[in-house]
Amino acid sequence: MALLNENYLKLQSSYLFSEIAIRVKQAESKNVGRKIIKLGIGDVTKPLPNSCLKALHKATDELANEATFRGYGPEQGYDFLREAIIKHDYNSRNVHTISADDIFVSDGSKCDSGNFQELFSLSNSIGVTDPVYPVYVDSNVMAGRTGSIIDGRYGNLQYINCSSENGFTPLPPNKSLDIVYLCSPNNPTGTVMDKELLTKWVEYALKHKAILLFDAAYYAFIRDEQLPQSIYEIPRAEEVAVEFRSYSKTAGFTGTRCAFTVVPKQCLVYDKSGTPHKLRDLWFRRQSTKFNGVSYPIQRAAEAIYSVEGQKEIKDLSDYYLENSRLILEAFSSAGLECYGGKHSPYVWVNAKRDSWEFFDKLLNEAQVVCTPGVGFGACGSGYVRFSAFGKRENVIEALSRIKDLF
Ligand SMILES: *Cc1c(COP(=O)(O)O)cnc(C)c1O
Repeated sequence: MALLNENYLKLQSSYLFSEIAIRVKQAESKNVGRKIIKLGIGDVTKPLPNSCLKALHKATDELANEATFRGYGPEQGYDFLREAIIKHDYNSRNVHTISADDIFVSDGSKCDSGNFQELFSLSNSIGVTDPVYPVYVDSNVMAGRTGSIIDGRYGNLQYINCSSENGFTPLPPNKSLDIVYLCSPNNPTGTVMDKELLTKWVEYALKHKAILLFDAAYYAFIRDEQLPQSIYEIPRAEEVAVEFRSYSKTAGFTGTRCAFTVVPKQCLVYDKSGTPHKLRDLWFRRQSTKFNGVSYPIQRAAEAIYSVEGQKEIKDLSDYYLENSRLILEAFSSAGLECYGGKHSPYVWVNAKRDSWEFFDKLLNEAQVVCTPGVGFGACGSGYVRFSAFGKRENVIEALSRIKDLF
């Protein structure tokens, strides 16, 4: 008899998005004569930059020719891409502590941030912020690091509460944790951690010999030069932090699939006897066993992002979404609702001043606009909703005009 991994039974069914789908369908069937506008989804709507497309076509043609054909690529990704990453994403911001052999190109930050926990003992204490991107939690549940879920919280997982009190940017806790997931700019709250706060987290990790798993999927939305785009802008972060980056939101690669993870060789983990090991070498072992890389044309398309043309195109892309963010933020702020994010992020997090689902229903039934109930991201998201700026401008404007007199 094939027995299952019982940890999967602990997982809460993906109630949030299925429940949204059910309610949207009901609203659609009422057919009030205007279309439903979705400001809930975290997927992009703008097409691929032209520079990426050109590189993709060219590299695809190379594969059709025996002289330029390529099969399996290098385990960590092609040098041309890893070197472009180091030069343009890090050296340009004065980060010189990491190098191309710390970069692991992959097909997504969702898989990398979900898989990374495999490298750590099941006995580690795991910290997640609440509200949180669900991948960090569910991957630890699947691995067996948690108890069952009670009132929206898994036993044995350490929740770091975020609220209006800490501006949804939490300080390190007083107790010791081994692994902590951080995401900045944050999904779902849109808040950004500044240098001072990130420095506290790095100091915390150094003190406790902990590892920070830093998700920077939204770094391209940061416009304030003072805000860190990478955790490695903080001194000594390379000793304690892994960084996840993705081209999904930066360059419209959600369907194309390319991302990378930085695991600096200075970053150490310990065995039971206290002997240090390089985390980088463990991730190399894991990836070379279970992953066979991203296709050559896609890596060429990602490289093109770093060309002069590509840099301009991705700036224009994020500028477009940031303007949507600004409009959403302005609309809810002027309606007198307390808002977070929306400035260096494609998400606006709104205090609904009522139950998340009640707000969701009101918006759906009276304005035919869809948002995401914050409670779906954790108990601390209760009473909040998330708006995504990834829609088309005309839809955002139409949605906001419908909402105008609702609150
Ligand atoms: C969208 C997103 C990612 C990117 O995931 P991919 O698998 O690279 O598409 C990573 N982290 C967060 C928090 C996200 O919202």
